[in-house]
Amino acid sequence: MTSPIVVVGSVAFDSIKTPFKEVSRVVGGAATYFSMSASFFTTVRVVAVVGEDFGQRQMKVFEGRAIDLEGLQRVPGETFRWKGEYGFDLNSRETIYTRLNVFDQFAPRLPASYLETPFVFLGNIQPQLQLDVLNQVKAPKLVAADTMNYWIERTPAELGRVLERIQILIINDSEARELAREANLVKAARRIKAMGPEVLVIKRGEHGVLMSRDGDGLFAAPAMPLEEVLDPTGAGDTFAGGFMGYLASSGEVTDATLGRAIIYGSTMASFAVEDFGLSRLLTLDAEQVHERFRAFKTLTHFDEV
Ligand code: AMP
Repeated sequence: MTSPIVVVGSVAFDSIKTPFKEVSRVVGGAATYFSMSASFFTTVRVVAVVGEDFGQRQMKVFEGRAIDLEGLQRVPGETFRWKGEYGFDLNSRETIYTRLNVFDQFAPRLPASYLETPFVFLGNIQPQLQLDVLNQVKAPKLVAADTMNYWIERTPAELGRVLERIQILIINDSEARELAREANLVKAARRIKAMGPEVLVIKRGEHGVLMSRDGDGLFAAPAMPLEEVLDPTGAGDTFAGGFMGYLASSGEVTDATLGRAIIYGSTMASFAVEDFGLSRLLTLDAEQVHERFRAFKTLTHFDEV
């Protein structure tokens, strides 16, 4: 049975610089990428805030999709702004600035229609806002979260409280190492799971994904080898959208659905990186998603004898 997902996270104006191209003030944000991606699988209910500078033209990216915006507030002030810069190795980037703007004073209030949402994704934003949302949802079936070094360094106590209350944490490899204070990812996964989550999903950029589930059971998937990689911004949130979207559409969380969710997440992320910002996701259709999902099977299949 397909369940809806509630997501809290940034809706942003991003500026992105790579060795190939530079764009400024394009629509981005963790909740934006997540909801665009997850809406291929189920309905997504967005909890976020934008400023008065986020107009009808920007809202168009959400149009015609299974994205419920009743929980997207518009308030006086400026929308969240972020700028990132990549070198030729697109796996590492430098944050040039993060301006919380309207997120600084944001008090999330979930509309009544969101309160009984079974699947919850606490996207990358202040951990206190993640907790505020979690405190409002009634008896969720599955809660997953993302975070980043910005919050690991600035608000470790609040982040610790988030970790105690979630089942799945989805973060990238450098964040996993920083959070666990451990360079080895297998050991880091064990330490992070001792902080709360039962399942840890570590995103490793072009090296794929490593999932640590019950006990020390590991599952790994490569990233799709692509000829065209222009901009990795949002790949992590797009991955999380495909991962959670598939789980919510299957309605159950088992070893089998978790494995397929990793591949759907990787499939969605592989599209996101093919163009700048949201561009590739805006033209993507369901048939292309299923085709690439099947290509993943061919990519990783081998016979024992
Ligand atoms: P990703 O490339 O998956 O890490 O996601 C990049 C997106 O996250 C961009 O669209 C940014 O607007 C957003 N972002 C970057 N830093 C933060 C932060 N500290 N809090 C919330 N969102 C952020």
